[in-house]
Amino acid sequence: SSSQGGAMASGSSSKGGSKDGVNVQVVLRCRPRNGIEGRSPEVVSCYESRREVVLHQNVAGKQQSRTFMFDKVFGPGANQTSLYDQAIVPIVAEALQGFNCTIFAYGQTGTGKTYTMEGANCGASEGDLPNDAGVIPRAVKQIFDHLERSQIDSSVRVSFLEVYNEELTDLLDVDDGMQQAARSKLKIMEDKTGVVVQGLEDCIVNDAAEIYQVLERGSAKRVKAETLLNKQSSRSHSIFTITIHIKETTSEGEDVVKIGKLNLVDLAGSECISRSGAKDGRAREAGSINQSLLTLGRVINTLVEHSGHIPYRDSKLTRLLRDSLGGRTKTCIIATISPTAMCHEETLSTLDYAHRAKNIRNRPEINQK
Ligand code: ADP
Repeated sequence: SSSQGGAMASGSSSKGGSKDGVNVQVVLRCRPRNGIEGRSPEVVSCYESRREVVLHQNVAGKQQSRTFMFDKVFGPGANQTSLYDQAIVPIVAEALQGFNCTIFAYGQTGTGKTYTMEGANCGASEGDLPNDAGVIPRAVKQIFDHLERSQIDSSVRVSFLEVYNEELTDLLDVDDGMQQAARSKLKIMEDKTGVVVQGLEDCIVNDAAEIYQVLERGSAKRVKAETLLNKQSSRSHSIFTITIHIKETTSEGEDVVKIGKLNLVDLAGSECISRSGAKDGRAREAGSINQSLLTLGRVINTLVEHSGHIPYRDSKLTRLLRDSLGGRTKTCIIATISPTAMCHEETLSTLDYAHRAKNIRNRPEINQK
């Protein structure tokens, strides 16, 4: 078997479930420069085969650089297909085996989180996906292609949740215009199977086209809610979850159900942390304190430094995704950056953050009933 993605996880079992666990996988993606960046010089070099990113800085006329290593590196020339095939296919394959898997997109606003997770130019398409399709539509296709090909007795459900200002919105709740009611109905509970959100719509879907319809409905609702509340998507987190129930008969003739789960998370812009963290009173206007993003950072630090109590309960996002950080889930973080000097400070902060997260260890297990 290949050791891809496991390079940082020495001693880990490729099947997961080993005693020591497996490291969170961290993938770095640098997007191409865009129009707004004009002639801002490039300060990032990506070395995909060495899995290295170098950030250059000119300090008092002297060139300084810092090198960061990740599990995988995708430079500005990497397209959606190569990112998906190299970094995501194995994770979705694990979800199809009954593992809990989470993919986070983390980075400054405008660096390509949504492009990476959802993609561009893809409506409810059938058949072949457009080249710009992101992780979510490709994962949907991989899942249904697999289930259809293997003729497994299975069912697939999806849910779509948004966390904004520590409030939850069910993006699939059809009760339009009733934002307030839809929100207050949701409750995070913990039982022995893990975290469940009570009241959250969990739609059964029969094929990929149905998921695309559901996704479109959810995204439209998100846009509408944003306009109503005058908020920016850069401050909210969205969690799209696909749950796959797979019925199998063991060689002893016993029926078992394996439950695979794939959480696809588009986080708020990472600049929201620096804004929330600022001592400056102006930064503390309503809505600017991103409790969930701040707590996510603290949870990561505590896990990596083994420094005691892990503050999962301090935010909605970390309560919901507790199992993805130091738990039984296979987790991948896609950190996104811009190549130019304009974003230098945020890029350094993202590289640091993502690099630290590489040291989190999870102990994935198959969910079986
Ligand atoms: P974010 O979600 O991080 O705020 P977006 O995904 O909205 O950022 O990306 C900002 C813009 O840059 C969009 O117009 C998007 O299409 C474009 N873009 C981002 N990443 C890439 C990429 N790797 N290749 C081509 N265009 C990209």
